[in-house]
Amino acid sequence: MRIVLVGPPGAGKGTQATRLAEKLRIPHISTGDLFRANISRQTDLGKLAKSYMDAGNLVPDEVTIAMAKDRMEQPDAVDGFLLDGFPRNVQQAEALDALLKSEDIKLDAVLDLEVPEEEVVKRIAGRRICRNDSSHVFHESYSAPKQAGVCDTCGGELYQRDDDSEDTVRTRLEVYHTQTEPIIDYYKAQGLVVTISSLGPVDEITRRALEALKREDATQ
Ligand code: AMP
Repeated sequence: MRIVLVGPPGAGKGTQATRLAEKLRIPHISTGDLFRANISRQTDLGKLAKSYMDAGNLVPDEVTIAMAKDRMEQPDAVDGFLLDGFPRNVQQAEALDALLKSEDIKLDAVLDLEVPEEEVVKRIAGRRICRNDSSHVFHESYSAPKQAGVCDTCGGELYQRDDDSEDTVRTRLEVYHTQTEPIIDYYKAQGLVVTISSLGPVDEITRRALEALKREDATQ
């Protein structure tokens, strides 16, 4: 399957993407994770991306699209992928369409994770991520690690993302509403959008998502 995951920051895209990709046996492609990997390797791309990310803004389309395209063309993504955080505006959605068209392939679904704005702010403020593996995510009150600051899964150090500060979160939400939300209508016009609530236990949300995707797959 070829799936795009959308939702505001804090909707649980990363958590659900990891779980769904494992269940569906497709690679999880997160442009945010690709940028963060470039930042820790101190590449030119990482240096460029960091200033935009720290301010809560989108990294320019040209470099983002090139990076996403390169990742989607890796051998493990030939039969499917789950895109998390890409596309993030209509120009990127159009570029993705053009890329897929040139390969004569199509998206199967766009999974939209819905969550109220007050919940988003609470989730992000308490979010702590493992330095060793960004799929190990904790929350200071909702899913606290056994030992503060230490990852339960691998013992890695937990940290707060630079762009999870309150001011930056506000900008990221604004960017989501003005630039990313319009892609939902763009994909609705293609009949691809399935919306689920991203409230409740993590397992329950994964179950909801898999059911919604199964229904979508059956209509193909
Ligand atoms: P994420 O991990 O998906 O929340 O992304 C973190 C940050 O990386 C975003 O706030 C953007 O600054 C940048 N980013 C990730 N994906 C994209 C994208 N598709 N287009 C532009 N910037 C992006």
